[in-house]
Amino acid sequence: MRQSQLYSPTLREVPADAEAKSHQLLLRAGFIRQNVSGVYSFLPLGKKVLRKIETIVREEMDFIGSQEVLMPALQPSEVWEESGRWYTYGPELMRLNDRHDRTFALGATHEELITSLLRDEVKSYKKLPMVLYQIQTKFRDEKRPRFGLLRGREFIMKDAYSFDVDQEGLDRNYDNIFHAYKNVFTRCGLDFRAVLADSGAMGGRDTHEFMVLSEIGEDTIAYSDRSEFAANIEMAPVKVIYAKKDSELREKEIIMTENKRSIKDVAEFLDIPEQECIKSLLWIVDEQPVLVLTRGDHQINDIKLKNALEASIVKLATEEQTNEILNSEIGFIGPVNVPDGIKVIADEAVRSVVNGVCGANEQDKHFVNVNPDRDFKVDFYDDLRFIKEGDPSPDGNGTIVFAKGIEVGHVFKLGTRYSESMNAEILDKNGKSTPIVMGSYGIGVSRTLAAVVEQMHDENGILWPTQLSPFDLHLICVNPKNDSQSALGEKLYEELKSNRFDVLYDDRKERAGVKFTDADLIGIPIQIIVGKRAEEGIIEMKNRKTGHKDEVHVSELLASIAQHQAESR
Ligand code: ATP
Ligand code: MG
Repeated sequence: MRQSQLYSPTLREVPADAEAKSHQLLLRAGFIRQNVSGVYSFLPLGKKVLRKIETIVREEMDFIGSQEVLMPALQPSEVWEESGRWYTYGPELMRLNDRHDRTFALGATHEELITSLLRDEVKSYKKLPMVLYQIQTKFRDEKRPRFGLLRGREFIMKDAYSFDVDQEGLDRNYDNIFHAYKNVFTRCGLDFRAVLADSGAMGGRDTHEFMVLSEIGEDTIAYSDRSEFAANIEMAPVKVIYAKKDSELREKEIIMTENKRSIKDVAEFLDIPEQECIKSLLWIVDEQPVLVLTRGDHQINDIKLKNALEASIVKLATEEQTNEILNSEIGFIGPVNVPDGIKVIADEAVRSVVNGVCGANEQDKHFVNVNPDRDFKVDFYDDLRFIKEGDPSPDGNGTIVFAKGIEVGHVFKLGTRYSESMNAEILDKNGKSTPIVMGSYGIGVSRTLAAVVEQMHDENGILWPTQLSPFDLHLICVNPKNDSQSALGEKLYEELKSNRFDVLYDDRKERAGVKFTDADLIGIPIQIIVGKRAEEGIIEMKNRKTGHKDEVHVSELLASIAQHQAESR
């Protein structure tokens, strides 16, 4: 492709709201253009990279025997009504009417549509297992579309759905797809972790998110510095064996702690470490008050709390509720002498507090030398806190560190959530009717493109990995007005093309500085520079990532390219 003809309008000024590096660079280098908030056009350079990612996705999905389909974005509201999500999905679902006033949704995801497609066709267990996938545009009216392709309102997703007779089948498909996803992100050159995640409102138990490590990421991941363990901090189990001090148990005493409400203030006032305090918080769990205890240096994890109590809604009690139920201000509540009928539960760490400090349920007063199970009753202990950096990894291997992550993929065991509500049943081996067991799996294809740029760039522009680069080679004729440069440039361009290289040839009549700046910005891994020594048949090869330059004779060009490409693998 001749760069003089390439449709790639480069932007000198990026819009002020483009905070993410990928957003800025993809706009500046002419890969994408915004049409309206959260909606983008892929220009030729962007489209080429997108296609390469899609090819990797297709290859890995086809490899595990799944089949590609293409479903409509325009979906009748009836299927969403059947599953119930017409009423629960909320404003993210884009809805519209046709000229006959029939209602439709623009597909945010395709569980409903594929279930309705399959239920009429697949009636016997003999047709299963099956995995179908598509690569398609999705619509979600995100509250805050931002960071360019990372969170759009219209974006490209690869979604897949698995269908099985039973849970074991689902487990097998889940594992297969899990591995396919690992291959996809590895082949994209990404530094990522597959993290255990919370299944939230979707039902189902097992779920993993594939997270690309990046500061711009919206999720926090806890991972081991030595093993493959990684989990969303919302989920990460804490497996610590807390040492209990061997001190003599002292008598409980009440003391004045005027205006000392927070753990920090109390610990400073008494000159003790925060971990000798017991933090008490009153929660309203499905309308029942529950006093939840953690060690002073720990934070309650409300998802663990919810799971431990098998509750639907957990909420911190308000100031008024706390006053009313415990007759004390929030800063002074504690587990000693709580009124009957109020459950007290505690994180495992509390068990090992010896001669601790806690609120006394009286204004400006705390107890010192309190000991769990002696001075107050705990209904049960469980893992209720957030994991911390420095905690041992729950798999027993290594120490936990935190990182921010961009979710690029999601695998999810749906079970029979959709097949039951939408009557997708098959006859099993014994001729018994049974709901199909389903899984749902997504890769944000356009988000992955942006995530690659987040991880692979420097101050001058993008650093495409060879396998995703929009072109294999960037041939640059420094001064096309010079006859020998222009002749050699043209000759090499034809030669490289006939060797089936995909070449971007900068034949523009621009200043050398502009060309080099643009080449670095676009980020093709190998630059071949035809300049001053063209007459002697000598050109320069530049490695975009390392900046390293070699002079090469044209007769060695192909060998040199092969070597560069081998090194970058
Ligand atoms: P998020 O928490 O980021 O909103 P999600 O949980 O809503 O993601 P899924 O419904 O699991 O996402 O969608 C599958 C994949 O689609 C995600 O892993 C992500 O890579 C991608 N994706 C989701 N929403 C967007 C979006 N608004 N823009 C671009 N990609 C997205
Ligand atoms: Mg979302």
